[in-house]
Amino acid sequence: MLRIKNLHASIDDKEILKGINLEINPGEVHAIMGPNGSGKSTLSSVIAGKEEFDVTEGEILFENKDLSELDPEERAHKGIFLSFQYPTEIPGVSVTNFMRTSINAHRKAQGLEDMPGNEMLKLIREKSEMLAIDRKFLSRSLNEGFSGGEKKRNEIFQMAMLNPKLSILDETDSGLDIDALKIVADGVNKLRNENNAVLVITHYQRLLNYIVPDVVHVLVDGRIVKTGGKELAFELEEKGYDWVTPEKAV
Ligand code: ADP
Ligand code: MG
Ligand code: MG
Repeated sequence: MLRIKNLHASIDDKEILKGINLEINPGEVHAIMGPNGSGKSTLSSVIAGKEEFDVTEGEILFENKDLSELDPEERAHKGIFLSFQYPTEIPGVSVTNFMRTSINAHRKAQGLEDMPGNEMLKLIREKSEMLAIDRKFLSRSLNEGFSGGEKKRNEIFQMAMLNPKLSILDETDSGLDIDALKIVADGVNKLRNENNAVLVITHYQRLLNYIVPDVVHVLVDGRIVKTGGKELAFELEEKGYDWVTPEKAV
């Protein structure tokens, strides 16, 4: 599904990603872990096509097609979902209306008409029930005064509605309490299937107690320095990152 070959990326002429190779197949959940500043968020931004980064070498293939010429919206329409891809506060727009707008934007890009109202309501009902999202939440104004957990609920709900092929969840290093982590994990576990793939980016092993990855990669200073199974996450939790960092390992 996703194949990244020798990817180098810079910002303001500073090289951040220094030759990333990564292959994700349908049905797989991959985790990327690594110390703060190692380039995790840069990698997710570059896959999503954010324009502030320059890809200086290498390529990103999605379903065997080179993504380099596509902007973030076009990549989203191809089925790549990045959490936090929308402004965090849109007062006055309800969760339901936001989902309607996202769905119809995707349909429009595929040359389809807006989804009929009754079909939309059915989809919203089905997905909100699946994720145990209550009706009151659906009419809330988007992100206005949302708690960390509610923002996560909204993101996971958006993911469920759009049904992306590849979801990239960049979990920031701070501020997520255990309830918010569980919302993310429960949602991902319900949505993962043999046709989609998930890339979870996280500083902490904790999230991976709830989302069990098939493959764990360790990113240090812009390079994947180690790849392993789910047990690698526990090893990192126990031993930190120094032992996998080439210049710090003894
Ligand atoms: P991580 O997500 O692993 O904590 P980031 O990808 O956010 O790491 O950052 C990697 C490096 O790139 C850091 O040194 C950071 O300072 C730098 N960086 C990230 N974004 C920018 C930016 N917009 N402008 C300048 N430097 C940046
Ligand atoms: Mg960071
Ligand atoms: Mg980050």
